[in-house]
Amino acid sequence: MGLRRSIGGALILLASCHVPAGLNLFPAEEDLRLGAQFDAALRRSSEYSIVEPRTEEERALVGYVQGIVDTLLERNTVPYKELFRYRVSLIRGPIVNAFATAGGYLYVYTGLLHAVESEAELAGILGHEMAHAAYRHVTRQLTARYGLSVLSQIVLGEERGLLEEIVASLGVGLASLRFSRGFELEADRSATQWLLNSPYRPDAMADFLRRIQNEPRPPELLSTHPDPARRIREIERLLASGPPVEGRSDFRERYVSFKRRLKAVGW
Ligand SMILES: [Zn+2]
Repeated sequence: MGLRRSIGGALILLASCHVPAGLNLFPAEEDLRLGAQFDAALRRSSEYSIVEPRTEEERALVGYVQGIVDTLLERNTVPYKELFRYRVSLIRGPIVNAFATAGGYLYVYTGLLHAVESEAELAGILGHEMAHAAYRHVTRQLTARYGLSVLSQIVLGEERGLLEEIVASLGVGLASLRFSRGFELEADRSATQWLLNSPYRPDAMADFLRRIQNEPRPPELLSTHPDPARRIREIERLLASGPPVEGRSDFRERYVSFKRRLKAVGW
């Protein structure tokens, strides 16, 4: 049981010296195992209707979203690119949101896919979720909240109750996985950086936030990701400080036809 031994060592370290804020003593390899535990629980839960593509067309539609993630991965040095999974699952439902758990497990509601208007906007959102995984925000947040040993018990399948509780709050972002403002800004900064090294227009994410914040009924994404105005300002500030961005596209038409195909399969 190597994990138990390393956790024991980490606890001794914790007790004997000052640990700087934000340091993650949970081993990165365990992020992947934790992500797999969350994924299994999400698939068991009746609250999440995770798409299991059955036809060639359904696989192609999931593949289209995955292709955006792969493009960002190919063009950038995303942390834990080799170790983590960075795979998208779609969840059927009208909720306008996306989330990531540990180890690169990414989830996107079909409601979000319909609310998005271009491939570049979706790339911004996916980049943001990839960054939550890459910078290990879930395990940083959960170790701070519950402690290392509780987290390793979840990995070992010994903390079913807590696992289910966290999973139940994922999509609506009620308590457990609501990230700090610092983590949200870190995710936006990385996503913007990655989009700069991609075919996508990097300010499309700001367009999307601007549009949804003006909607009469603000979508879930705004309750799990507060303060859109500040995020828009930050993205714009980042882009203004670099060289002018040219030759990037929204891929709007391609996206419109993707949405048409989504409707056609009833998603
Ligand atoms: Zn976020």
